[in-house]
Amino acid sequence: MKKRRKKVASRFYQEEGECFLCARLEKYPMYHKELERHHIYWGCHHEQAELYGFTVNLCAHHHRGDEKGNKDAVHSPDKNDYGDYIKRWAQNEFEKTNTREQFIEIFGRSWL
Ligand SMILES: [Zn+2]
Ligand SMILES: [Zn+2]
Repeated sequence: MKKRRKKVASRFYQEEGECFLCARLEKYPMYHKELERHHIYWGCHHEQAELYGFTVNLCAHHHRGDEKGNKDAVHSPDKNDYGDYIKRWAQNEFEKTNTREQFIEIFGRSWL
């Protein structure tokens, strides 16, 4: 049987129903019934993000976009700055209690 790694709670506090980006951009409804878990550092850093709780909750609009595609989603193929914005924010938060060297040890590089 394949070993399942335990899901780690996010290290970042969010209100219930709160989308990380909605809460900061303020032009969308503030409460969401359904939220999706986004790994802040994805791709080859996906596992480390899971392991260290580098995840945030996003609404579908800001996570995957919609069927028409929108530029507001972090995984949108269209270039936007939201993904990088969250990466920089999370690193900043991490460095309040840890060093940059520790961050680079986990994720291989700095976004700041
Ligand atoms: Zn949102
Ligand atoms: Zn995601």
